[in-house]
Amino acid sequence: MTDSQPRNLQALPKAHLHVHLEGAMRATTLTELADRHGLPANLEGDGSFASFIALYRAACEALRSPDDLSRLVHEIVEDATADGVVWIEISAWVSSAHAERLGLANQVEVLEALLDAGQRAQRKAGIGVGFIVSANRTRPPTEAVELARLAAKHTADGVVGLGLADDETRGAAELFGEAFAVARDAGLIRAPHAGEHGGPDSVRGALDVLGAQRIEHGVRSVEDPELLRRLAAEGVTLDVCPTSNVVLSVVPSLDAHPLPRLLEAGVPLSLNADDPLFFGSGILAEYELGRHSFGLDDLTLAHIARCSIRASGAPDKLKTAALAAIDRWSA
Ligand SMILES: [Zn+2]
Repeated sequence: MTDSQPRNLQALPKAHLHVHLEGAMRATTLTELADRHGLPANLEGDGSFASFIALYRAACEALRSPDDLSRLVHEIVEDATADGVVWIEISAWVSSAHAERLGLANQVEVLEALLDAGQRAQRKAGIGVGFIVSANRTRPPTEAVELARLAAKHTADGVVGLGLADDETRGAAELFGEAFAVARDAGLIRAPHAGEHGGPDSVRGALDVLGAQRIEHGVRSVEDPELLRRLAAEGVTLDVCPTSNVVLSVVPSLDAHPLPRLLEAGVPLSLNADDPLFFGSGILAEYELGRHSFGLDDLTLAHIARCSIRASGAPDKLKTAALAAIDRWSA
């Protein structure tokens, strides 16, 4: 499309489906909280996945009270609203270590504090807020089962899915089948990370063993044409984060990013920021990058926004209104 006047991407209604709680902290907030609590807040990484995880843990460390947590959720929702997001799903791992730092009794209280902050932020901002309880691949699978059961108990107050994150080279999908079966029985969206540092086999594992309906990243599916056909046929959405992929060397450059090939193969995909704190890019910037670096036209960007809404755990009413607004945007 050769619009002389490109449409305003901020005004394109979109869902942010792949964004991690602590990784979405504003840099200014991290500095302020770290100062207040007398902690180092070194934001300099060396681009490796290990240094990224170390930085992520530093952001976790900076949260020292339920008020800090509430502030974080409110700021994430404010930033999303400013980017034209109408529905956000914040991924959060909760553990006894989180509880201890926050001065709460256990991980149940951490999740309840998050959900409460999410509901208040939602009312204030006027956009929809959901949570994905994220299990951690580097932890024992029994912990994931426990988290899935916890998530299943909170579907009425904001939990929409079960995720699986952290170092993909550890913790094969096979170990987490039981947790994702609990999620399936509870009607939660199964949205594990796969196909980022692991290849097509990790994506197949997520589909076959975990019953994944969405794959966080999944970009390495491009290495296997048969897998691409399957993703397209089964309508599995890839929640793609181009800037994150470049910073973490999943791809050597934006030019080499498989996003255009995934679109061409008919795989549903959404655009996401992953961890704006570390990658310096919010979701609107990813849509801008879609336009400027990948040369996507407005109809394709609207298609991506539609995919994000359809694949989300948003209530039907919100989905219908957002899809109609995307039609108006692209008309
Ligand atoms: Zn992620």
